[in-house]
Amino acid sequence: MVQQLDVQKKAGQADYSELRSTTPGISLRVENVSKTFVSRDRIVEALQPVNLDVASGEFVCFLGPSGCGKSTLLSIIAGLEKSDGGAIIANERPVQGPGTDRILLFQEAALFPWLDVQGNVEFGLRQKGIPARERAERARHYLELVHLKGFERSYVHQLSGGMRQRVAIARALAIDPAILLMDEPFGALDAFTRDSLHAELESIWAETHKTILFVTHNVREAVALGDRVVVFAPRPGRIIRDFRISLPRSRALEDHRLVDQSAEILETLREAMQNPEQELVNGSH
Ligand code: ADP
Ligand code: MG
Repeated sequence: MVQQLDVQKKAGQADYSELRSTTPGISLRVENVSKTFVSRDRIVEALQPVNLDVASGEFVCFLGPSGCGKSTLLSIIAGLEKSDGGAIIANERPVQGPGTDRILLFQEAALFPWLDVQGNVEFGLRQKGIPARERAERARHYLELVHLKGFERSYVHQLSGGMRQRVAIARALAIDPAILLMDEPFGALDAFTRDSLHAELESIWAETHKTILFVTHNVREAVALGDRVVVFAPRPGRIIRDFRISLPRSRALEDHRLVDQSAEILETLREAMQNPEQELVNGSH
């Protein structure tokens, strides 16, 4: 292996071997994780004790209407929010706080407007102390992967919503996390852009073997992307079903099998929504 790399270098080729050998996904276990928010006049049970096992390299979608604790659970997994009880185990080790093994992406790509695309992708690498040349190479590599070659010197205001999300994905991948946590990342995009980003994300996932947790309230999006669709219900936030999706990839949103499976999942969700448990009211419980 080492010999082979030497030969490549001698031949004067660009050495991207290190870039290609990215960190593959790791397993994740959510054990009895609960969270209640208490404010002056209300107690919100954002998450009843939740249990979930995710295999390394699995693509798992969290599906549910707003207010059922999906973002709360992602933040706890990212180590940005503390749970009241339970534990998050990543690669057999308890998660104690944020780490570069788990990167969270949001609906609004939180890019820096004063940096160009290249600068945005390099930002996390700079913080990690990676030398300038390697930073530049890695940024180039990931920008190419998300089809933004040629836009390195553009600023955020010059980009469409879809391009901004691509930059955010490139920036996250450049840090080389084992787990990508995506909170409604395509929720603000038009259907065409969303479609092409589905395809891109799927091929990035297939290439990198990352573990992906992807939050959405769009049933077809969940069925199109997930190996599993974990369905949440609100008040109190909880997991009600875990569907395994075994349709062949890549999946077209209009494929009748995908539509049928989506209808089945939607029905489960409707049933759960018809019998919502009451939110706890402070003092009366
Ligand atoms: P989802 O992402 O599924 O829409 P969230 O995890 O954002 O749901 O929220 C779950 C519930 O917890 C909601 O009722 C929300 O209002 C409440 N909640 C979330 N964060 C806070 C907070 N920081 N303080 C108080 N309540 C919160
Ligand atoms: Mg949310």
